[in-house]
Amino acid sequence: MANEVCSKQNVAEVFGCNVFNDAVMRERLPKATYKALKKTIDEGLPLGATVAEVVANAMKDWAIEKGATHYTHWFQPMTGVTAEKHDAFISPTADGKVIMEFSGKELIKGEPDASSFPNGGLRATFEARGYTAWDCTSPAFLKEGQSGVTLCIPTAFCSYTGEALDKKTPLLRSMEALSKQALRVLKLFGNTTTKKVIPTVGPEQEYFLIDKKLYHMRKDLRYTGRTLFGAPAPKGQEMDDHYFGSIRERVLAFMKELNTELWKLGVSAKTQHNEVAPAQHEIAPIFNDTNIGTDHNQLVMETMKKVANRHGLACLLHEKPFAGINGSGKHNNWSMSTDDGQNLLDPGKTPHDNAQFLVFLCAVIKAVDEHAELLRLSAANAGNDHRLGANEAPPAIISVFLGEQLTDILQQLENGGPESSKTGEELRIGVSTLPALPKDTTDRNRTSPFAFTGNKFEFRMVPSSASVSGPNIVLNTIVAEVLSELAERLEKAVDFDKEVQALLKDIVINHKRVIFNGNGYSDEWVKEAEQRGLPNIASTVEAVSKLISEKSIALFKKHNVFTEIELHSRCEIKLENYSKAINIEALTMLEMAKRQILPAALKFCDQLASSVNQVKATGTGADTGVQEELLKEVSATMVSFQKNTKLLEEAVKAASAIEDVHECAYAYQSKVFAQMGLLRADGDKLETLVDESLWPMPTYGDLLFDV
Ligand code: ADP
Ligand code: MG
Repeated sequence: MANEVCSKQNVAEVFGCNVFNDAVMRERLPKATYKALKKTIDEGLPLGATVAEVVANAMKDWAIEKGATHYTHWFQPMTGVTAEKHDAFISPTADGKVIMEFSGKELIKGEPDASSFPNGGLRATFEARGYTAWDCTSPAFLKEGQSGVTLCIPTAFCSYTGEALDKKTPLLRSMEALSKQALRVLKLFGNTTTKKVIPTVGPEQEYFLIDKKLYHMRKDLRYTGRTLFGAPAPKGQEMDDHYFGSIRERVLAFMKELNTELWKLGVSAKTQHNEVAPAQHEIAPIFNDTNIGTDHNQLVMETMKKVANRHGLACLLHEKPFAGINGSGKHNNWSMSTDDGQNLLDPGKTPHDNAQFLVFLCAVIKAVDEHAELLRLSAANAGNDHRLGANEAPPAIISVFLGEQLTDILQQLENGGPESSKTGEELRIGVSTLPALPKDTTDRNRTSPFAFTGNKFEFRMVPSSASVSGPNIVLNTIVAEVLSELAERLEKAVDFDKEVQALLKDIVINHKRVIFNGNGYSDEWVKEAEQRGLPNIASTVEAVSKLISEKSIALFKKHNVFTEIELHSRCEIKLENYSKAINIEALTMLEMAKRQILPAALKFCDQLASSVNQVKATGTGADTGVQEELLKEVSATMVSFQKNTKLLEEAVKAASAIEDVHECAYAYQSKVFAQMGLLRADGDKLETLVDESLWPMPTYGDLLFDV
């Protein structure tokens, strides 16, 4: 490696060695500065300019000692990937030399040109100014690359007029909203010591690894991250021999280096295994607060690609790289924790905790039911349309899996709960006679999009390639909203215990429809969900409009997460991103169809035709039936292929000419995407007919079974 910033071998020493973390700050900052910064980080107090100056200097010294020459404000615009603009630390001196400098101002604020990032109509190009602002709640880190070491400072990114242009700003706002409302509820339960409630996330990341040489031989993978043509290989995932299977050497070497790289960045990569599909794998870190967890997931995705490259592999993060076998998702494990480490979704052992636990649990259930459309939307992108509500689970219907024991307890609550309620400190409410809940009392349910897994919820719809920011913004905000409603009711209660019980009962009665412990993949569930009145939103285009519904605008406004303007901008960006993604896919398909597949099929026809002629020319009267039959079949398929190519071309032309973003996205979905399916069917048929040696690209078999 070019820059061996951490030359240590021991995992404990390697871990976080590239992070300006608490330990480094404690060591390098004057006591008063450290304390002031900690106060900002822990309690959200404003950061003073003098403190920033001292921190900047310490950060610079630390970074330079580790070989850094540049720094960057690292931010997350609406592109889905992170952005950085590198500045050297150098500052000229009067004698024509330079010194290494980094000021508090430079630490706190950056001014990247915002006009080239997606803004959804928020700004005209002439108003190019955008700001990045230091997020001191996510630690700065060093990125090592071929070209050197760079100090990366996590920042929020907003426009000149203060609108969020990124994924971090609203996430931080939603965390504050959740904390505020959760504290109100905790206070009612007599908790006066907790100062902050922190939503937590541990995203399990799925991905594919394929050979880099083969990857480069496929235009579709290169341009779109997924295969647009490809007949199924004789073997798929039907043998179930890949899931948790022993990991191949080459992949193990990749995983080993990936872990080390992530550990250096303070990402606690913990588990790794083979996933269901051939060449599919998963990595999961230990959970963190949703801000750091989201930053870390971005680093995980970026580092996976980089390390794969070093091992002659390509890492595919697309939700559906291959038709006919499982795609990739991200399991967003989510919970809420107090600043002193109490997991609010941990059922606990004592009845008292149970009551509080049940309130938080029911708050989540109510939130998920009432705002299912927003949750669904938060998991929507063009790639995920192949999974959700399409040929692969989980379905597009949001439901909650609770397991038998909790479902039973909720039933008891609905039936009035245990009558005999004693008064006293520990036994605050009637439900206190419920049993203490041991962890893992029920089996897992892999088919549920939103499953309670012992002491957290696992939101399983999240797209593998996307930032987890969106889903967590929605989760934090909808739960904040319900907690605020509950707090309002409970704060007015004359008899707290009775009111809690009544409230829980109301929630169960009104929202039990969202609880489903059965097989979420079955057709019966789709029918039943419809009878229950649960929304079933099949596509991104349909989902996106929910973002600007009156209900959504009121919700996000109330909790200061998004302004109406920001919501409109996000809606537009999401639709534009969808249209652009399908447009690139369609254009790539056309190029492959016209310049690769059709020429290969024509060559094969030539061969068949000359074979017919040559055999006939022998005058032996030998049968040319096989060649002729094949020739006819290939020719007929080519006719259809050519027709569908033309139709796709027309569909793209028509869709791209539509100005209205919503109508445009709709056309890409209903016309272009639909037509792509028809063209693919013909292309894949040709693949099964044409001589292997003429086929112009690696096949599914090559891609999936060659690593
Ligand atoms: P499984 O999905 O098999 O239950 P784990 O229990 O290891 O796997 O958890 C999966 C992910 O959930 C890990 O990233 C883990 O850190 C995370 N996780 C565990 N507890 C919490 C929590 N309280 N909040 C958020 N994520 C959590
Ligand atoms: Mg899991």
